[in-house]
Amino acid sequence: MIAPDYHTPTHPTYCSPHRPRITPHSRPEPSHASSVYMSPPPTSSSFLTRSLAPARLLIAHPIAAAISISCFLATGLIMYFAQGRVAYCACRRLNLWSGNVWSSHCSQHVLDPYSFTHFSHGLILYFFFSLLAPYISRPSHPARFAATLVVAAAWEILENSPFIINRYRTATMSLDYLGDSVTNALGDILCAALGYLAAHRLGLRNTTILFILIELLLLILIRDNLTTNIIMLIHPIDALKTWQSAGHAPA
Ligand SMILES: [Zn+2]
Repeated sequence: MIAPDYHTPTHPTYCSPHRPRITPHSRPEPSHASSVYMSPPPTSSSFLTRSLAPARLLIAHPIAAAISISCFLATGLIMYFAQGRVAYCACRRLNLWSGNVWSSHCSQHVLDPYSFTHFSHGLILYFFFSLLAPYISRPSHPARFAATLVVAAAWEILENSPFIINRYRTATMSLDYLGDSVTNALGDILCAALGYLAAHRLGLRNTTILFILIELLLLILIRDNLTTNIIMLIHPIDALKTWQSAGHAPA
């Protein structure tokens, strides 16, 4: 089988100066042959293009970018100055990741297993705002991205309020929880933003599969996930708390 030549100047599909203009009404029925010729081969730049998509999104939409960046920075300032959160873990080690959710390093470095629950926030918020779209003048993708950042930032401030911290300490497995460091909270917001962008790329079916996988993996590894987190915050179940606490590795 001979591979089609996409670059030959005489190829009628791409280069004929007399190629008829294709409108929605005149678009020909797709056939195997035409779909082969109309689809350019994957190039090495396509990965780079996809990787830069978030940056392009913000550069092309300055208002959404301004809202997103303002929320991000304002959260750090509010947490540090108004809520008295520490900037970083007391250990001062420059570890990006802290894997032990029962250690004092959890929620103090940039990323930890709970970062995945914030990634899942982004997955959910993407479809939440997509569902709302028909009712609020169909906000654009950048507007929904900015809205996701607003919600993620607001949640970080709420999550580090005395009410929620005490709720975590009394009702959930997080008995020693003292709130997030500013660095960890900003990492959580970035995870939510990544979750939103992932959902935009993956679509509903693959996002649902990814969400379920994350929930199962967290349940197996740390006996906690977004679902149990919400359950224990709203309506604590003693049996669940006992099971979660039993996973606590002895110090
Ligand atoms: Zn630490």
